[in-house]
Amino acid sequence: SPTVGVLALQGNVPEHLEALAASGARPIAVRRASELAAVDGLVLPGGESTTMSRLLDVFELLEPLRDRLRDGMPAYGSCAGMILLADRILDGRPDQHQLGGLDVVVRRNAFGRQVDSFETDLEFRGVPDGPMHAVFIRAPWVEKAGGDVEVLASVPHVTSEGEDAGAAAGRPVAVRQGPVLATAFHPELTGDRRVHGLFVEMVRATL
Ligand code: GLN
Repeated sequence: SPTVGVLALQGNVPEHLEALAASGARPIAVRRASELAAVDGLVLPGGESTTMSRLLDVFELLEPLRDRLRDGMPAYGSCAGMILLADRILDGRPDQHQLGGLDVVVRRNAFGRQVDSFETDLEFRGVPDGPMHAVFIRAPWVEKAGGDVEVLASVPHVTSEGEDAGAAAGRPVAVRQGPVLATAFHPELTGDRRVHGLFVEMVRATL
């Protein structure tokens, strides 16, 4: 089975390790360059992208990670991980690093104060078995996506609570560009393994 790392500087690390193990991967926590060199793919978890950005410097992982992404290593970013992978960030901190590789503009904390955190069901293209329950926590959305970016899921116009999703409606919240996958929400928190399953398949396809 493929070895899939979880960037373990901060954030939802144990949940991703567990979800990967349940999806047929051999999961390892990645904190140093030698561990990064050993993985076939990498998950960048949710948490706080500005903190992770700072820790990438402290752990001297910024350049090794950029190198592996440039070489085509499969990567999956959830929430803060999506922000790190995006080529451009709106409402980011001016000094926050981007790893890049995903041709999107993301807006950080896009859903604003009133809907800081919410849950809804959405259609996720290419996964079987119907709608996916999605948990958003101070999430970004994709403001603009390049031509090579596939939108896999968007915020529905009416949420599962029956509320009008307003300005959020139709915003892309799951995207893929070649070996790079990103979701604004947190499938590691719901027990739904379909996104991790998709990512493990993407990693397997590169071996
Ligand atoms: N708002 C956080 C950030 O800017 C992301 C939140 C999350 O990952 N749940 O990084």
